[in-house]
Amino acid sequence: MDKYDVLIIGSGPAGLTAAIYTARADLKTAVIAGSVPGGQLTWTTEVENFPGFSDGIMGPELMQNMEKQAKRFGANFINAEVSSVNLGNVPFSVTTPDSVYSARSIIIATGASARWLGVEGEEKLKGKGISACATCDGFFFKGKDVIVVGGGDSAMEEATFLTKFANSVTVVHRDAELNASKVMQKRAIDNPKISIIFNSEIVKFNGEEKLESVTLKNRSTNANEEKNIDGVFVAIGHTPNTELFKDQIELGKGGYIVAKNETETSVVGVYVAGDVSDFKYRQAITAAGAGCKAAIDVERYLD
Ligand code: NDP
Repeated sequence: MDKYDVLIIGSGPAGLTAAIYTARADLKTAVIAGSVPGGQLTWTTEVENFPGFSDGIMGPELMQNMEKQAKRFGANFINAEVSSVNLGNVPFSVTTPDSVYSARSIIIATGASARWLGVEGEEKLKGKGISACATCDGFFFKGKDVIVVGGGDSAMEEATFLTKFANSVTVVHRDAELNASKVMQKRAIDNPKISIIFNSEIVKFNGEEKLESVTLKNRSTNANEEKNIDGVFVAIGHTPNTELFKDQIELGKGGYIVAKNETETSVVGVYVAGDVSDFKYRQAITAAGAGCKAAIDVERYLD
């Protein structure tokens, strides 16, 4: 069994920043990279809001740089998916299909996955007009017409944010009423650039090289209509990747890991960082900051 001071589960900005800090603090560190090494940023194209890159940087390149930086300080990378964890005894153990690893502490940085609609054309046109993050991609839609799908707080927030860039924002919601908080609904409804189509859903994305239109189905009449559009932001929620921990760690609303004092989970010695416990900010830079905090807290705990 390979023994570590700290095992970091997840290799997005939270996990890799934690690894840079713990490895540099001379703690024997391993990162178990998971099914999407690099995390959500590997799906994006250009990242323009990560400080320090004045001309922007491609998401995959940013993650490769972070990995290189962590390796420079001696972090070990394990390219595997975790199949189970045992947080009941110290040292904790983490099992992958090929090995079992043990560690005195763990940082969970497994992130969250955006929910998608799962309809025809979506997979092909992701990043070519379809996005799940207005903060990341809104800037590319200056003067364009966009749709935001969803009726919750995320959809209202994304729609309102997008009005800074877009010519028009149409919220498409499948029900007759929004379920966002009243204050966020009002902000969106009062915005002259935002209109709302109720009882409708996107059943198809159309376009070859880039998104050109969507097919909307009216759920009351069952009638289909094609609507030309430059961009669609899917804002129907995120699912935190907490399946592995659900019987061993306290989870809160929506399945997110409950963090006490910013990084502590309900198990002493197990820390958390990034989108797996943060439904509010969900940015690469906030995840990286959280990874740094978790690493510093692990150092102090192990001391
Ligand atoms: P929610 O789960 O609250 O809302 C999801 C929305 O998407 C609902 O309107 C839902 O409609 C709709 N939806 C779900 N699946 C589909 C589908 N397949 N097709 C079409 N529509 C669909 O997620 P949010 O991300 O909005 O919010 C998550 C949490 O984060 C909440 O607790 C929220 O308050 C919080 N949040 C807080 C913010 C803030 O305080 N600034 C900002 C953003 C989020 P239906 O009701 O029909 O299922």
